[in-house]
Amino acid sequence: MKPFFLLLSLIGMISVTAQTSAPPALNAIRQGDLKKDLYELADAKFRGRSAGTLDELNASMWLADRFREIGLKPAGDNGTFFQFFNLWRNRIADQSLIAVNGKKLELWKEAAISQMANTNIEGPVVYLGNALSMNTSIDVKGKIVALEAAPDGINMNVSLPTWRYTRNIMTKYGNALVNRGAIAVIFIADATAEKGWADAAENFKRGNYDIEGGPNVWVNTTVPVLWLHADMKNTISSNAVLKANIVIEHFAYPSVNIIGKIEGTDQDLSKEYVLYSGHQDAHGIRNPINGDSIYYGADDNASVDVAIMASARAFKLKPAKRSMLVVIHGAEERGLLGSRWYSAHPTVPANSIVAVLNGDMIGRNHPDSAALLGVQSPHRNSSELVKMALDANTDGPKFKLDTLWDKPTHPEGWYFRSDHLPYARLGIPSLMYSTLLHPDYHTPLDNAANIDYAKLKKMAEWMYRTGWKVANATKRPATDPGFKLER
Ligand SMILES: [Zn+2]
Repeated sequence: MKPFFLLLSLIGMISVTAQTSAPPALNAIRQGDLKKDLYELADAKFRGRSAGTLDELNASMWLADRFREIGLKPAGDNGTFFQFFNLWRNRIADQSLIAVNGKKLELWKEAAISQMANTNIEGPVVYLGNALSMNTSIDVKGKIVALEAAPDGINMNVSLPTWRYTRNIMTKYGNALVNRGAIAVIFIADATAEKGWADAAENFKRGNYDIEGGPNVWVNTTVPVLWLHADMKNTISSNAVLKANIVIEHFAYPSVNIIGKIEGTDQDLSKEYVLYSGHQDAHGIRNPINGDSIYYGADDNASVDVAIMASARAFKLKPAKRSMLVVIHGAEERGLLGSRWYSAHPTVPANSIVAVLNGDMIGRNHPDSAALLGVQSPHRNSSELVKMALDANTDGPKFKLDTLWDKPTHPEGWYFRSDHLPYARLGIPSLMYSTLLHPDYHTPLDNAANIDYAKLKKMAEWMYRTGWKVANATKRPATDPGFKLER
């Protein structure tokens, strides 16, 4: 090889090295912007951004205003930043009545309904005793049955234990009674259920949600499940009579995805998109903790929304070959509803989305560690995308990466709890960035003051660096053959 060409190729190598180690607009990701944006989005004025409320819509308007300031182009419906969709909701109507021995119980305070069913029944209660020692030979067909809850081997060492507890108890003890023909199941709260009562009742009271076509649009259960406090045990076990007139309300109202794009520079590749994904909704106003009832959702998930805006500033300053598509999803907390909707009704051709870089909670825990999900089998759906993300970590923040939470055996099932999932199910290469759980998760303490902004900046840089690689790669990342999730 002639020296001249050798020199050229050396220069080529140097410039390639420089490009992979630092994308050109890395400096556009600034801690000051992240902090300012996050304090605004997680502000009390948005009242916890509960899905389907005006608070979520107000926060969505705020995000669209920021998109416009940054210079993103609208990529939602009808030339706007928005894609509205309906939430279907089922909840217990206020006129519902639960009474024991003719005495009306105050709904949610004295009696909670953990499984909805339109019901109008009145009859004697068959008391089965404690769940651990209940008599399984009693004929419960056509009967209202009651039993005292008991944990027995249920794993409570997970997030949202109070909410899961009632479901676990039902699975462990209640379903068999329903299968044997019981027409209503009453659980008497044990100590664990008493401890979690307020939190669990708050969730039941809100009911359930779905989008058109989903399994929970209508309530499918016909047997109501009730919870009563421990002090009702004597009454219930002594020939009590239950009257239950339970009415389910079924109605729809809007949530919204916020969508913007920064067009790529390459004539052909700009028709392909790297999708950055977050969610704007949080948990609204709920039971107060330390006198505060706003569930701000600062880490979950304002942290990701502001990190994506920081990336958008960088892509705006120096666009890549492919286009950047930003989708901030609505109603994630109600069952990944915004991402399920968008992935089924994308505003760009589905096959033009080359990768989904989703984040959920990226501003807490140890400053030097983070997690990437969608890396280990069976969650990995694109080895090429995984490599780009891992290389981006090596080039930049050098986080020590968690290896446990992406395992199918991890009790949290973290991979299944955020907005990349519907895209991954469609075979689109997808990843989830997270700094994982903390005790303030889904409480008023998940607020802007508790975010580690230096760490958030590093996470934002990592997501930007990954997207930059994907957006400039000669070939889009391939989907691994045979990808199949465990559930
Ligand atoms: Zn979240």
